[in-house]
Amino acid sequence: MTELLVRGGLVYGPDGPVEADVHVTDGVITRVEAGGAAPDGAMIVDATGMYVLPGAIDVHVHSRDPGFPEKEDFGTLTAAAAMGGVTTVLDMPNTVPAVDAAGVLEAKAALARPKARVDFGLWGLVRSSSTVEQLEGLAAAGAVGFKAYLGYSFSTSRKQVLQSTDADGAELEAPPDYGTLARLAPVLARLGLPLAIHAEDPAILAAFRRPLESYADLLDSRPPEAEAVAISASAAIAKESGVHLHVAHLSSALGLRAAQDAMRAGTRLTLETGPQYLWLSDQDFARLGTAMKVFPPVRTAADRDALVEAAASGVIRIVATDHAPHTDEEKSRPFEHAPSGSPGVQTLYLSCLELAKRLGDVSLAPRWVSEGPAELAGLRETKGAIAIGFDADLVIVDPNRKTQLRPALMRSRQRHGALDAREFGFAVSDVFLRGRPVVRDGKLVGRAAGRMVRPLGSR
Ligand SMILES: [Zn+2]
Repeated sequence: MTELLVRGGLVYGPDGPVEADVHVTDGVITRVEAGGAAPDGAMIVDATGMYVLPGAIDVHVHSRDPGFPEKEDFGTLTAAAAMGGVTTVLDMPNTVPAVDAAGVLEAKAALARPKARVDFGLWGLVRSSSTVEQLEGLAAAGAVGFKAYLGYSFSTSRKQVLQSTDADGAELEAPPDYGTLARLAPVLARLGLPLAIHAEDPAILAAFRRPLESYADLLDSRPPEAEAVAISASAAIAKESGVHLHVAHLSSALGLRAAQDAMRAGTRLTLETGPQYLWLSDQDFARLGTAMKVFPPVRTAADRDALVEAAASGVIRIVATDHAPHTDEEKSRPFEHAPSGSPGVQTLYLSCLELAKRLGDVSLAPRWVSEGPAELAGLRETKGAIAIGFDADLVIVDPNRKTQLRPALMRSRQRHGALDAREFGFAVSDVFLRGRPVVRDGKLVGRAAGRMVRPLGSR
């Protein structure tokens, strides 16, 4: 029996927008077509004049949970996600303890579940010391893929990925390097899971290290060559093993060219960029300050324009946020000492809808935030589209109501972000997770009922 009927909206299905009703039974979409009588007992939502979009899957968030509850936790993360129409988040493994083995992943899932207002998946960590057994265990426990932080060392005493190599007093394990990738890529290829990389070549970063007195210093210290070299070298390794290489947060035109060369050569490679790289350039620093300090950095207008063009043409198939909150105190430190990262999960869909509208094709937005991400995460038979048999993760957006981004609206623990003060010509009205309302009329409703997702075909 139909339990939910979303009536009269403009439904963004896999073949583009169509006016239709969406019927939902047992949390699954059972019919997408116009007209017909309303079934008895169904919850009826009038979406006339609204867009009905597939829920976003943010493949790159940092919940900080467990580890840094003062920055964020699974409850605040997923409240922000739900409010923005993100119905699945994939959490990165650099929580504490880092997710480097099955037991840690299982404990993190148990911690997240009671707090999760949306569905979630968990990435596993690749360390330079990772064993085949550890990777197999993580895959069996349900990891959506693996992340290698090139150049980030690991504290074995604190069980933590470190932001810089000169961490005081910690027992350090060497960062994963190309040798680590070459050793482990065949294992990941066999497990059928993607290998995501933080693509900044450590040797190039070391050669350009300098005091950071200005934004220009930051750009000089992390040149685009670092990104391009990391992509080319990792891609050469990936091609040999057949593993799916995923480049997180692509930031430069040079990195984009390196990736395109690798794709043309037959490497299985996907690209992700973020709203910060699609909306901002170094010119915005004077206005935003440390709110836009992220690694890799936001670069020039030419880099931004190249990324927008690649997203519009489908070379970049995933837009994700790298949602990485810190406390206001941390972000108000002097530029050199403020940690890198910005929240973003709540504004992902709105910013992508606005950009897609400006590019003349709103349906780009659900492709960037839902369809492409579902493929990466191995969820393309259950999520990523409004189609029969798929989870009823539905987002109803008003295209005639503006949203001005201001701290009071934000549900993340860090309320200031890189897109602060922007206005987008859309508003999220209602959000359904597997047919259950999680946001009604712009307000959070219901209890935390998120589930852990597992990639199809893993284990
Ligand atoms: Zn990240």
